[in-house]
Amino acid sequence: MDIANIVILTGAGISAESGIATFRGPDGLWNGHRVEDVCNPEALARDPALVHHFYDARRAALDEVEPNPAHLALARLDAAWPGELLIVTQNVDDLHERAGARRMLHMHGELRSALCAACGVRERWTAPLPPGTPCHACGQPMLRPDIVFFGEMPYAMERIDEAIARADLFVSIGTSGAVYPAAGFVRTARHHGAATLEMNLEPSAASFFFAETRTGAAGTLVPAWVDQMLG
Ligand code: NAD
Repeated sequence: MDIANIVILTGAGISAESGIATFRGPDGLWNGHRVEDVCNPEALARDPALVHHFYDARRAALDEVEPNPAHLALARLDAAWPGELLIVTQNVDDLHERAGARRMLHMHGELRSALCAACGVRERWTAPLPPGTPCHACGQPMLRPDIVFFGEMPYAMERIDEAIARADLFVSIGTSGAVYPAAGFVRTARHHGAATLEMNLEPSAASFFFAETRTGAAGTLVPAWVDQMLG
């Protein structure tokens, strides 16, 4: 099959070798917290200090990490690929863009961004974000981490769906296949006739739906795949 258009979905596993913890560690916790305690709108309403502090710590930790060979390889593919290409990341870190990727979007938000819950304006944010911080646009003390919590609508779904419908190849890297709607993208891609490839440390909840699964570390598998694509 001739491949012109590619959609690449990435998850927490692609950043693991950079030193960012994946979603559920062996203890079932995410950086010491139950996911339900820090990643939903009810938690934000009930205990804003806890949720803001959690994301402040994740944001500050970005200063300590660097893109790994998997991020760098995808940036190389992005720069060289003549067809359509879109990297859809579920990650809220900024390692894809720091590696140099341009054709990408964050479907679950970004740590280095703040969102006004009152007026919807976003601003780049690199410092701690205490609850009650006023929005520069509307003045309401409603700035929150620009993170898509459970139960909220992921960003850019229309653009993602359109790209998947046009894709000849759908690739998933370092994602557990357990968080929807991203976990359903492979089925949409297949429905539209795309080839499908998964690269993950171990078979995932979605492996069954991929035509090919390569198991191993993203930092090894992804550069080899990009060499193959650009070969
Ligand atoms: P997940 O933590 O549920 O799953 C990560 C997957 O990556 C697992 O299947 C694991 O086997 C695999 N993996 C671990 N190390 C790997 C490696 N070196 N190479 C290849 N694969 C590896 O992550 P998810 O599926 O992305 O879902 C988690 C949600 O949590 C997402 O919505 C994301 O927004 C958020 N999250 C983001 C970050 C981040 O921004 N870096 C970190 C943790 C969680």
